Amino acid sequence: MVKDAYGWMQRSLNTIHQANWYRSVTPIASLPGPIITVNGREMLNFASNDYLGLAGDKRLIEAAMNATREWGTGTTGSRLLTGHRELHRQLELAIANLKNTEDAIVFSSGYLANIGTISALVNQRDIILSDEYNHSSLKMGAKLSGATVFNYPHSDINHLTNLLKNHRHQHRRGLIITDTLFSMDGDLSPLPQLVELAQEFDSMLLVDEAHATGVFGKNGAGCVEYFHLTGTPLLQMGTLSKALGSLGGYVAGSATAIDFLRNRAPSWIYTTGLTPADTAAALTAIQIVQQEPQRRAKLWENVATIQAKLKNIDNSENPNFSGFTSFTSPILCYPLKNAAIALQVAQKLQQQGIFAPAIRPPTVTTSRLRISLMATHEPEHIDKFIEFIMAI
Ligand code: PMP
Repeated sequence: MVKDAYGWMQRSLNTIHQANWYRSVTPIASLPGPIITVNGREMLNFASNDYLGLAGDKRLIEAAMNATREWGTGTTGSRLLTGHRELHRQLELAIANLKNTEDAIVFSSGYLANIGTISALVNQRDIILSDEYNHSSLKMGAKLSGATVFNYPHSDINHLTNLLKNHRHQHRRGLIITDTLFSMDGDLSPLPQLVELAQEFDSMLLVDEAHATGVFGKNGAGCVEYFHLTGTPLLQMGTLSKALGSLGGYVAGSATAIDFLRNRAPSWIYTTGLTPADTAAALTAIQIVQQEPQRRAKLWENVATIQAKLKNIDNSENPNFSGFTSFTSPILCYPLKNAAIALQVAQKLQQQGIFAPAIRPPTVTTSRLRISLMATHEPEHIDKFIEFIMAI
């Protein structure tokens, strides 16, 4: 009898369908922006991480096109072989300048930055303390490193302190990892306390500034700047793909740490260097972040507008609705009872011309709509969103 070694996949897919966890892709057929074309129809976009509205900016497009013309489409090899360009170094220095760190290193994605960095920093002899709401790339990095991993309840400093007290001394190195702005809940990690704990327990701290870079802080450097922690000994990673409108990831920190990663991070050493187009676009985005604080100001105006309007919504009669979580950030979370309801609500919004997909397990533990704001949203876009969400 011929055995089917792959039959389990369809069975697994069936289970995913039954749980309403099935995922598929939706093509967006327009430039990124507050209005996008989805399935041939214009929709208001409340789903993007393009917080400053730069992914469709003419200057980034121009920079990417010029770099492609000058240096080609691909970099043909690892940065350590044929894949390094002067442009990469310019970008790394620009990131270090934005973050006010000694140096920075650019990876081909944020995911690669996290898995490569964590597995370079710690191994079987070490311990990782990880917030339970951390992004998949932090969790995967922790797993791949082989270190002993403890997940602490979301932002629970007491729990984390006890874990460190009980376990830190049994391991060689300690590493605390956390998102700074949590991508699916829109709240901030208690960074000042984490910095203190890291120092008290002789541990490293790696913070994921993916959603905060370009958004938080006076100069858009992220939550480390926002909490006045610039200059404290920590490692900051982030992505070039959200507020910076391009693709790629980075780690910023001391010159020694960055030099170490260049020698030890496998996902940097053994992967092809970032394309000239992505590198040039990110470099232009950083210049815009630094030269146009008004974009960030506009984003925060939009955050204030939506927060004020949401406060007035009375949804107490609606059995599916437990209210928006209202942390002050461009990411809003609308918790929903279960995955099926989240899908229904997202579909209803799509019928009304609002694009805000349902986020379900296993991405998050509880289903929700995730609404994200951009600097390029206008007050009428927000009004429309409020009007429709009230009608659901
Ligand atoms: N960290 C966080 C918190 C993220 O949200 C993401 C992307 N969703 C990443 C890391 C990975 O970044 P990239 O998309 O550049 O791989």
